[in-house]
Amino acid sequence: MLKAFLITSQPAILSSPIEYLKGVGPQRADLLKKELNIFTFGDLLQHFPFRHIDRTSITNINELTPATEYAQVAGVLLHYEQLGQKSGRRLVAELKDKTGIMELTWFQGLSWVQKMLETGQSYLVFGRVTFYNGRPQIIHPELELLKTVGQGAKNYLEPVYSTTEKLKSKGLGGRQIGKLTQLLMGMVKEKDIPEILPGKIIKEFKLIDRYKAFRQVHFPQTADEYVEAVKRLKLEELFLAQLRMALIRSGRHRYSKGVVFDRVGDLFNRFYRNFLPFQLTTAQKRVIKEIRADTARGRQMNRLLQGDVGSGKTIVAVLIMLLAADNGFQSCLMAPTEILAQQHYNTISALLQKMNIRVSLLTGSAKPAERKKLLQELEEGQLAILIGTHAVIEDVVQFHKLGLVIIDEQHRFGVAQRARLWQKATVPPHVLVMTATPIPRTLAMTAYGDLDYSVIDELPPGRQPITTVHRYESQRSKVMDFLRSEIDKGRQAYIIFPLIEESDKLDYENLMKGYENVKAYFPEPRYRISMVHGRQPAEQKEQNMKRFVEHDTRIMVSTTVIEVGVDVPNASVMVIESAEKFGLSQLHQLRGRVGRGAEKSYCILITGPKLGNDARERIRVLVSTGNGFEIAEKDLELRGPGEIEGTRQSGALNFKLAHIVQDRSLLEIAKNISARLIENDPELNSAENLPLKNFLRMQKGAVLWRKIS
Ligand code: ADP
Ligand code: MG
Repeated sequence: MLKAFLITSQPAILSSPIEYLKGVGPQRADLLKKELNIFTFGDLLQHFPFRHIDRTSITNINELTPATEYAQVAGVLLHYEQLGQKSGRRLVAELKDKTGIMELTWFQGLSWVQKMLETGQSYLVFGRVTFYNGRPQIIHPELELLKTVGQGAKNYLEPVYSTTEKLKSKGLGGRQIGKLTQLLMGMVKEKDIPEILPGKIIKEFKLIDRYKAFRQVHFPQTADEYVEAVKRLKLEELFLAQLRMALIRSGRHRYSKGVVFDRVGDLFNRFYRNFLPFQLTTAQKRVIKEIRADTARGRQMNRLLQGDVGSGKTIVAVLIMLLAADNGFQSCLMAPTEILAQQHYNTISALLQKMNIRVSLLTGSAKPAERKKLLQELEEGQLAILIGTHAVIEDVVQFHKLGLVIIDEQHRFGVAQRARLWQKATVPPHVLVMTATPIPRTLAMTAYGDLDYSVIDELPPGRQPITTVHRYESQRSKVMDFLRSEIDKGRQAYIIFPLIEESDKLDYENLMKGYENVKAYFPEPRYRISMVHGRQPAEQKEQNMKRFVEHDTRIMVSTTVIEVGVDVPNASVMVIESAEKFGLSQLHQLRGRVGRGAEKSYCILITGPKLGNDARERIRVLVSTGNGFEIAEKDLELRGPGEIEGTRQSGALNFKLAHIVQDRSLLEIAKNISARLIENDPELNSAENLPLKNFLRMQKGAVLWRKIS
């Protein structure tokens, strides 16, 4: 008991409120809290420098170039004088070393500075170098009298910290924060930052201890010391994140209650034998097996199913819903838009047509009478499968026995919305989240590490790869000719325009202009065109969409509202206008709208004549590969984790030091260590792991042991 208590008690100094640090006080403390989330001494220590200024060496004046940032120079003061009038008033001094002369300039505190200056004396000078009239100068340098020229440099690496304009205005610039940190580090003793990682890990990966790592990340003596410290702290950070999620997952595996689907019954078997329209791919079979195992053991399933566009996730959903029905449970399939919900409904009710099972659709536009009937049937349990939009999460929607929730195209649903769904049953239903936006492995590990994970990494056989090409606007008439030849063969085509914000007037005008342009190439009545965009009333949108789905119109001019999930196998050409304005994953999603049928399909990316480097790279990647996972990795690399859709609010990605792209290999190591640890000691109860457990307990958003679902 006593031992556990000793380990648990937080070293007091690190939890001290930041206002008590000398030089901070209540006002600055408020700002530090608001601007940088620094509440305690410990938080300040975790505000890591983003770089260091090298003060271990002295630079010769003739080596200063416009590319030099900060420099330390030693020399003799030749002379100084005040120049200019009123607001242009300044103090200018000349400093000479054995290689040249530079200027030092002050605009403020002139008389005070002037008192420190003495011609003929030697000074050590430090600051940001700028060039003025071809001469190097430092404005407001740090200045120190030297006894003799040639006396040493400052001999340390000075940390620089990120800060904000507001903090700067209160005297807390990046270097001042460094002063505070230095003060704090002087007060912190080794016992205040005890080791939390098990000794085995420290040894295996040759890590320096925790206290040393904190000291060296801020105030390294050498560049190597910094590297050592960063390695240790990054690994710790990634490891803790992995461990936290692994604990949530293993906690769910062990303690959550879940409904049991242990029977493969008549519905599943009959459908599988008689009505499956094709042979399942190996990947589909594997995923179904994984889900079956997961739903049979009496724990709640929380699983992410990833599969590239067209990989065949729908049939997996259908089979699992039949499994639920075989075990006496209802299922709910939720899609992000009405069009998608409708399409799922059409597909699924056609697949299940000859089966004795009730499927219904609930969207916001359901008529009151239908709706009432549907809700009643749902509550009484006659309805086995409900397909719908977010309308299904409303409180009036009550299930008889909900056992399974499937969410398609997950990133459009918030976590809170999902939670409302599984509150609809006393025992939480199994949850399967399906996404067609491939998530890079590293992201999946960090953002969704608490979920179990299945992947369909294989496309159904016989798919022809989509030919992707890049064309400039000047070549548009050729593109249109090609389009016409495809349409005259009976195919359909999409022409997509960017509309980033529905309110963006310019984008909207471009869309309208584009539409007129397309109409000129494809005159009615010979050609019929649908147009869909976000400003249309829902009904009109649906109507236009429907005409295209039913082959009544041959061309779909649209914004990205059709981005996700729409399935028109006869469409064989995807033209994307201003392709440079789209993100990589989005382009890939759009391209996935074609190549769904037996016909050879094409994706044509039209851009303006001038492309930035990133845009050029995006186009290059898209033209060179059709693999969604490769594309997602590249997207992550180009944009960084914060910009990937659906992960923006994910706290799991807020690393202080580590970067999930650059530090991939460390992330892998962290994942392996955490998996090994949990396997050997699932509750971290061994003496060696206890410090770690206690540390996790005291963190913000701590893992709730045994209360996980
Ligand atoms: P997504 O994973 O993008 O939701 P879908 O489930 O819509 O993909 O499937 C895309 C198309 O592939 C559909 O037309 C579907 O009928 C077909 N499909 C799915 N699985 C197979 C398979 N194993 N063999 C042949 N076609 C398949
Ligand atoms: Mg789908």
